[in-house]
Amino acid sequence: MEIKSAEFIMSNSDVMKCPKNLLPEYAFIGRSNVGKSSLINMLTNRKSLAKTSGRPGKTQLINHFLINKNWYLVDLPGYGYARVSKSAKKTFQKFITQYFSLREQLVSAFVLVDIRHDAQPIDLEFMQWLGENGIPFSIIFTKADKLKPNAITRHVENYKTKLLETWEDMPNYFVTSSSKSIGKDDVLDYIDSVNNN
Ligand code: GDP
Repeated sequence: MEIKSAEFIMSNSDVMKCPKNLLPEYAFIGRSNVGKSSLINMLTNRKSLAKTSGRPGKTQLINHFLINKNWYLVDLPGYGYARVSKSAKKTFQKFITQYFSLREQLVSAFVLVDIRHDAQPIDLEFMQWLGENGIPFSIIFTKADKLKPNAITRHVENYKTKLLETWEDMPNYFVTSSSKSIGKDDVLDYIDSVNNN
């Protein structure tokens, strides 16, 4: 898929105020600093459509971007940032839970994980929660430029092994690098194929 247009539509913390039309949407979420903003900017060919975070955990909003006038890319807040207070965490959980539970336009989520790290409980728990709630998702491994090809394979295999302790199948996954523009077409073509199904 070629991205011809990408427009910021709105930011809010209330799922009921999200765009009312029925365009399909895809939500991007992951731990703070995982490289989500960089990935969104890579996918949309923009330098700063999504604000790369000087201070992780700061942007606690649901951000809607309209892509090619026919689907929404949704940038959700990063989770798991230690400096966020307990009450901020609770608020976060509430509106993210509401977003995933109530947003009928949501077609699929992308859970971002840093390819260098072992599977983290917070990510596994979140994927588990998505699974239990019947929300389709794919995994996006970020920052693949930081590893050599055989280390990429090893890290992905380790992740698979960990996931298969609780999941029957490995979810769909993509290996990406925003610095080296790796994986962009894979993600966009996947969204295209789902949109056209
Ligand atoms: P966010 O908090 O998840 O939105 O993460 P950002 O996109 O702001 O990125 C967090 C940090 O990781 C920044 O210092 C980025 O420059 C860096 N980063 C993001 N993507 C990549 C990547 O693909 N490769 C490398 N090497 N660094 C990246």
